[in-house]
Amino acid sequence: MSASGRISLAEHLRKLSLGFLGKRDPGDLSSMLITDFTMAETGISHYLPQLMGALVMPVLAFVSLLWIDLRMAVAMFVALPFAMGILWLSTSVQERLSGRQIKAKVNPGNRLEEYLQGIRVMKAYNLLGDRFVRLRDAFAELRRACIRLEALLGPFVLLAITLVRAGLTLVVLCGTYLLLGGQLSILTFVMFLVVGSRVFDPLTSALTNFTEFRHFSISGGRILSLMNEPEMKGTKEAPEDGNIIFENVSFGYQEKEVLHGISVILSRNSLTALVGPSGSGKSTVMKLCARFYDPTKGRILFGGVPVREIEPEKLMSRISMVFQDVYLFQDSIRNNIRFGKSDATDEEIVAAAKKACCHDFIMHLPHGYDTMVGEGGCTLSGGEKQRLSIARAMLKDAQIVLLDEATASLDPENEVEIQKAIDTLIKGRTVIVIAHRLKTIMGADYIVVLSDGKVEEQGTHSELMCRDGLYRKLWNIQESTLGWTL
Ligand code: ADP
Repeated sequence: MSASGRISLAEHLRKLSLGFLGKRDPGDLSSMLITDFTMAETGISHYLPQLMGALVMPVLAFVSLLWIDLRMAVAMFVALPFAMGILWLSTSVQERLSGRQIKAKVNPGNRLEEYLQGIRVMKAYNLLGDRFVRLRDAFAELRRACIRLEALLGPFVLLAITLVRAGLTLVVLCGTYLLLGGQLSILTFVMFLVVGSRVFDPLTSALTNFTEFRHFSISGGRILSLMNEPEMKGTKEAPEDGNIIFENVSFGYQEKEVLHGISVILSRNSLTALVGPSGSGKSTVMKLCARFYDPTKGRILFGGVPVREIEPEKLMSRISMVFQDVYLFQDSIRNNIRFGKSDATDEEIVAAAKKACCHDFIMHLPHGYDTMVGEGGCTLSGGEKQRLSIARAMLKDAQIVLLDEATASLDPENEVEIQKAIDTLIKGRTVIVIAHRLKTIMGADYIVVLSDGKVEEQGTHSELMCRDGLYRKLWNIQESTLGWTL
């Protein structure tokens, strides 16, 4: 159950909007997948049967003992309802504390990840002390939360156990009194003592685990609340090809709107460049095209069909993306390229790699296409990773190509190779490119200039240069920096 539950939760996460995932802490999500499932598993397989057994036994014993001796049976179980009542009272305290403790458990994981991932930057800026304090504080908070939980709940549980155990004491007192008065046979007395010791043992150990049991139900609740989060839906087929039209689209990642009423047509089989200052909304437009998010106002059409109504996986099959931050899985080069098309043959992979100018550098790696790349692809250079992602896109052979021009930060040799690879990739396709250097998109069919989340101007390079607008200003700035030397 745990294994299939975890897999279906991971599947579900994949289908949620990135907007929802962006608001959640990654540490919290991985804690749900690992710790909460472990809690739920332990709860269902250990605590639940134990509690059931521990409760059924006293009820059966009470009913049977009533027939034998009413007074002794009452003496044995009179304290039990009070013990249960006390535990019931403790649940609201526990609900609050356990929630807080789960949060405190997630935090050290996040801080540890931050600490390990950022260790290079921290060394460079001598921040190790500062970050270490954050890590230490997170563990200190966890310790406080755990102690608080034990200290506040412990007395409730101990009192409940004492009351349960008092049943046996009452049996001894009451039994002795009745025995001395000749109202009880020695055999019945011994029988009550034996049954009492057998019934109360499992009950006290179940009560000791009662706090864990509540913890398990909170973990289960967290898993269910995530499972109930609505997936990105859509039933329509994605058209083979077509224009992408933004109709008065507004969007914000959180409350703050970052795109304000954008209306543009990104024509099929042509190259449209998005330009504008940093933070103007270029990447956001791109992400909306791929339906990473749905717009808050307006609509986006692809081939006349609202993107919101297209099944996300069908839409994705029409789109290739080459972004700046290339993620490589901890797998062989061959399998990393194969992500573009899961049933690709080895020949197709090599052909795509050749077209993406990767083949040569791959053949120089120790095991060629079978070389493993580390998590996040840390054994390859930025340019090499970029070319691998172009090979993936080549293999996918989708009609729409979303491209974040990344050549600005690369060395000249890589830049030439990547430009060659990109030119092959985009031939005859609908291409939307985020251009950082205006020189590279002079020949674009259409240029959309964004500023502050709005379309400032649009047209071809020569049309935009004729106006005295933002595009010409950006162009002049880039021209003047070309002569810079160190
Ligand atoms: P550009 O690509 O033009 O540099 P972006 O589309 O990345 O601009 O960003 C537009 C605005 O949206 C910026 O103000 C940025 O801070 C904000 N933004 C981008 N990504 C996120 C995100 N994941 N969460 C919140 N705000 C974001």
